[in-house]
Amino acid sequence: MTGGAGFIGSHLCAALLDEGHRVICLDDLSTGTEENIASLRENPRFTFRQHDVVQPLADLRADLIFHLASPASVRDYLSMPIATIKVNTVGTMNMLELARRHGARFLYTSTSEIYGDPLVHPQPETYWGNVNPIGPRACYDESKRVGEATTFEFVRSYGVDARVVRIFNTYGPHSRPDDGRIVPNFVIQALKREPITIYGDGSQTRSFCYVSDMVTGLMAAMSRGPAGEVFNLGNPDEYTVLDFAHEIARQLGSDAGVVYHPLPVDDPVQRRPDITKARQWLGWEPMMPLADGVERTARWFRQLLGLPVTA
Ligand code: UDP
Repeated sequence: MTGGAGFIGSHLCAALLDEGHRVICLDDLSTGTEENIASLRENPRFTFRQHDVVQPLADLRADLIFHLASPASVRDYLSMPIATIKVNTVGTMNMLELARRHGARFLYTSTSEIYGDPLVHPQPETYWGNVNPIGPRACYDESKRVGEATTFEFVRSYGVDARVVRIFNTYGPHSRPDDGRIVPNFVIQALKREPITIYGDGSQTRSFCYVSDMVTGLMAAMSRGPAGEVFNLGNPDEYTVLDFAHEIARQLGSDAGVVYHPLPVDDPVQRRPDITKARQWLGWEPMMPLADGVERTARWFRQLLGLPVTA
């Protein structure tokens, strides 16, 4: 697993260990944290190596390769744009070479950002997207598109057993409080009884998948997703950012209101996955109700930040 100390990666490592796998976790800890994998390190079937996958790894053998390594929050990739481009292009090439050498099954985690500011709604896998190739988000959007193209070329040219998953907005424990994403921001602001920060007028839409659902989707795609296929994974329940803020505030008992900030450049106006293909091919769909997922996430941030339960 690359990116195994990250938000989603650390949960996926734990799930694979639970299934009896041996897991080698590679992470350069640029956005992942050692705390995320602290409990896993006691397991003798778990190995951690601090490594940047942009540097080739000759000595590693694996049957399955989950390639998650990449900054993924807007704040993170805007703060390290060149590293983001490298990990999704050179890093993906390195991991695909490893899969080719050892005949490993490979899964590349792409993103809903490859649809850019989508003109088709909801987004099916057949939609090619509407990406600004020279804007600030291009370091992520375009390098993920190259990562997809490289993965598919290794399938076509070398017969590597590889598939691609496009991850839509995901939330839950192990996301960093300072990663700038909507759910950590809103939950922490509500817990602290601070106004919730709305970028733009809050009419843009997103849909939110709890991390345990994402993990079962990734495992299903690895085991049941055929080579040379791409799957959207995400929750199709769509909210405007403003409605979502009110929902979080209501659930966590905050009446501090909202405060408006400028909309980030190229912030997509609407986003919702069409998950028909994942439902039909993988037998997968999200199960966690939003209220339960928010409660679990709030519990995690309360504990992490030492906030009182009745804050
Ligand atoms: N957003 C917001 N306030 C925040 C953080 C995010 O209004 O404090 C908005 C952001 O502009 C975007 C949506 O929430 O429209 C999701 O942002 P996030 O950075 O989580 O991920 P994105 O979907 O843009 O990759």
